[in-house]
Amino acid sequence: MRQCLYCQYESSDDHDDDCPQCGMSLPVGQALERQRRLQRFRWYCVMLAVFCLAMMLWLPR
Ligand SMILES: [Zn+2]
Repeated sequence: MRQCLYCQYESSDDHDDDCPQCGMSLPVGQALERQRRLQRFRWYCVMLAVFCLAMMLWLPR
């Protein structure tokens, strides 16, 4: 179930890209958004690990 941002029409068809009522594009599906957020979080963790390793090697002990 996705809701149109412009007319608040609720589309029951998840494969519909455009709002059947006003023709504007519907927001991205929730599952896709969650997957994208998870990917961004994983990328952030990797960058943090690399940064920590670089600092361990670079800073004097
Ligand atoms: Zn609409």
